[in-house]
Amino acid sequence: MQAFEILESNVRSYSRSFPAILSRARGSIMLTEDGRKLIDFLSGAGALNYGHNNHRIKEAITEYLASDAVVHGLDMATPAKLEFMQTFSSVILRERDMQYRFQFTGPTGANAVEAALKLSRKVTGRQNIISFTHGYHGMSLGAIAASGNRFYRTASGVSLSGATFMPFDGYLEQVVDTADYLRTVLMDEGSGIDRPAAILVETVQGEGGINVASKEWLQSIQATAKDVGALFIVDDIQMGCGRTGEFFSFEFAALSPDIVVLSKSLSGYGLPLSMLLIKEGLDAWRPGEHTGTFRGNNLALVSATAAINLYWRSRTFSQGVQSIGELMRRRLEAIASEYENSFAVRGRGMVLGFDCRTTEVAEATTRKAFEKGLIVERCGPVDQVVKFLPALTIDVQTLNQGLEIFEEALAETVR
Ligand SMILES: *Cc1c(COP(=O)(O)O)cnc(C)c1O
Repeated sequence: MQAFEILESNVRSYSRSFPAILSRARGSIMLTEDGRKLIDFLSGAGALNYGHNNHRIKEAITEYLASDAVVHGLDMATPAKLEFMQTFSSVILRERDMQYRFQFTGPTGANAVEAALKLSRKVTGRQNIISFTHGYHGMSLGAIAASGNRFYRTASGVSLSGATFMPFDGYLEQVVDTADYLRTVLMDEGSGIDRPAAILVETVQGEGGINVASKEWLQSIQATAKDVGALFIVDDIQMGCGRTGEFFSFEFAALSPDIVVLSKSLSGYGLPLSMLLIKEGLDAWRPGEHTGTFRGNNLALVSATAAINLYWRSRTFSQGVQSIGELMRRRLEAIASEYENSFAVRGRGMVLGFDCRTTEVAEATTRKAFEKGLIVERCGPVDQVVKFLPALTIDVQTLNQGLEIFEEALAETVR
C-alpha cells in the first residue's frame, strides 16, 4: 500500500477505508493480492448489482470483443445500441406502460445529472432546481450545487448556485410534513423561492444516509412539480436497476417522472454507462447540445442488454431481491434491538442503513469488519450510517456470513 501513498493523489478514498490490493473478484467475493478473501457489501457503491464478473453477462461481452464489433463509436448508430434500446423498451418500459426516449450521456452519473438539469432549464426557461437536504447527485458543478454535503460543496471552490434546498421526507421528524411545506413555499408568490425548472429527488438517499421517502411524500412532491410547471426528475443512479426490489425505485409509488437518471448498475458489469429517460414531448434538445466522447459505449450497452435479458424478463429476480431484503432487515433489526434503542435500521429492498448515531462507532465497526473480511462502507452527513449494499445476486450463506461479521465488529466496538 505504501507505493499507492507515494504514487497516487491524496484524494483517493476507498483505498484508505479498505487498505488491501484487490486483484480478483467473482460474485460477492473479492480476493486480495496476498490471498485474503473478502465479502463485498459495497458492490462498487451500487455499480455491481449483479455481482463482480458475472459470468453470464461476461459471455456476451467477450463474444462481442472477439467479433471485432464496434466498441467506440461516439454516439453513432450501432447494432449494439439498437438492441439495447429495443430490449430496454420492450422488457422494462413497455411492461410498465412507460413511454420515454433514451439519451446517452457521458459515462458518469454526474454527467447524466448535468444533462437532466440542463434539459429542465431549457424546457421551462427557468433556472432554479429544487433539491433536498442530504441529497447527492455527483461531483460536477451543476450536480454538486444540488447536493447537500458541505465537505464536497466546499471542495468545489466556487460559489454554487442554481439550486434551493428543501427538507427531505422526515427531515423535520413528525413536526412538519415537508411535502406540504414544499408545496406551500412554491405556491406562495412571496416565499422568496424562485419558480423551479425541476424538482430533483432520490427515492432513497444513498450517500445521504439511507433516508427513505414514503410513497405519499413522493406522490405529493410529484404533484407539486406538475402544479408549478416544473419537471419531476428521479435520480435513480444508485437505487435503480433493482436495488430496492423493482427495476425502478419509484415503481412502488406508481410515479411517472419526467426524467429518470440511470447509471451505476445500468451496464450490469461495472462498465461506465449513463443515460436519461426523457418523457415523450420533453425532448427539447437541439442536435449536439449535450455531447461527449464516451456516450453509450458499445461494450457497456452489450452487457446492459445481457443483464436485462437475464434478470428482468420474469418477476423471479425481483421477488428474490425483496425476500432477501426482508431477511437482511430482520437480521439488522435484531442486532439493533440488542442495544436498547440506540441504533436505527432504515432502507428498502436490498439497500439498508444501520445508523450508529456517531461517526466513531460507525468508523470503528466498519474498520473491524474489514479486518474480519467484510467490505462495508459508511454514509450520511458525518459518515455515521453503515451502508449495506450487497450484490442482488448474493447467496444467503455469504450474506449471513457478512452480517455475522458486522454483528461481531459492532459488539467489539460498543462493548
Ligand atoms: C453515485 C451517484 C451519482 C454520481 O454518479 P458518478 O458516476 O459518481 O458521477 C449521482 N447520484 C446518485 C444518487 C448517486 O448515487
